[in-house]
Amino acid sequence: MLTIKELETQIADAHRRRDALIEEVASNAEKLQRSQQRELSLLQAEDLNALLHVMVDGLRESYGLEYVSVVLCDPDHDIRHLLIANGTPAERITNLLMVESLAGYAPQYVALHQPWLGSFAACDHQLVCPNASGIKSIAMIPLKHRGKLLGSINLCSTDASRFTRDHASDFLAHLGVIASFCVENTVNRARLLRSGFTDMLTGWNNRRYLMVRLGEELARARRDRTGIVCLMLDIDHFKRVNDTWGHAAGDAVLRELALRIESQVRASDVAARFGGEEFVVLLPNTEVSSAKLLAERIRAAISKTPFELPNGESVTVTVSIGIAEVRPRPDDRDLKTIGDALIARADVALYAAKSAGRDRVMVEAA
Ligand code: GH3
Ligand code: MG
Ligand code: MG
Repeated sequence: MLTIKELETQIADAHRRRDALIEEVASNAEKLQRSQQRELSLLQAEDLNALLHVMVDGLRESYGLEYVSVVLCDPDHDIRHLLIANGTPAERITNLLMVESLAGYAPQYVALHQPWLGSFAACDHQLVCPNASGIKSIAMIPLKHRGKLLGSINLCSTDASRFTRDHASDFLAHLGVIASFCVENTVNRARLLRSGFTDMLTGWNNRRYLMVRLGEELARARRDRTGIVCLMLDIDHFKRVNDTWGHAAGDAVLRELALRIESQVRASDVAARFGGEEFVVLLPNTEVSSAKLLAERIRAAISKTPFELPNGESVTVTVSIGIAEVRPRPDDRDLKTIGDALIARADVALYAAKSAGRDRVMVEAA
């Protein structure tokens, strides 16, 4: 038989345990809610750049941590290029590390199947957390796709007891699953979006891209009071190449031609495959006289060296190039019409070059 005293002790004990449980449930409910909020902010990120921002800065703020980094494996530099195309190079996203391979990058990755929580050891973790200082504990959350490790989110705290081996890690594991899904999804969306701007045959920008960029360059030219020169280039008698050697040979010529144009233009110029065998190069902030010299260089780069065909034969290809220029005025509003007119005028100059005998450069009549 228990004495009253013992009973009272047991009841008090039971109360304490019940209060602790209530507290734990409440804290779990709160944790769950915060965790769901974090996952929602990942899922709501509208593009890859925004997602990476949420993964680094958003998680750091939401967890109230001193430091968070994200490591992403990008063996083909594919993600890096998508980030550049979206306007924010990887280098500009603080504490985002793009690595070519995880094997050999950090030893922890070999066995990172579940979140790893524990003491921060500079020798083990500094590589995945550059510029982190005063860190005492870390949670490395694996990012995976179809069972393959993509990288990790690294949550770091100056509090040694914040992440320990004894902590439950199921919330973090769930976050990792959601974040992995979001990375994959936004990378795919960025790829798809980009493919809408890419010519499949040459890998060059397509007409859609050119028209978007033309609008941007015109706005810039209007602001800076500069001009844009447009080169419109068309292969001479290209039909003959197709008719004589077949379409595959024609395709090979188109690809090589794109490379030869590319070798002549600057990074700030905008080159695109405009249509079938027509290419356009936009030269921002350029005088017509220097554009003409560039056009002559392009023409020579194409006509001087015969093109090798897939069957081993070779063919000499020439192009005609038309040049037009525009200088938007500060009060110009309809840049779309101005852009269309620029392309149309370059086209007129191109056909003047064709009429004059092809294999030549013509500047639009003043
Ligand atoms: P011109 O000197 O007047 O420009 O003569 P052309 O033969 O180049 O001009 P035309 O416009 O009559 O023919 C263009 C040809 O380009 C017809 C079309 O079959 C070919 N072409 C367009 N796109 C492609 C492509 O992606 N691949 C191949 N192989 N041929 C293409
Ligand atoms: Mg044509
Ligand atoms: Mg042609």
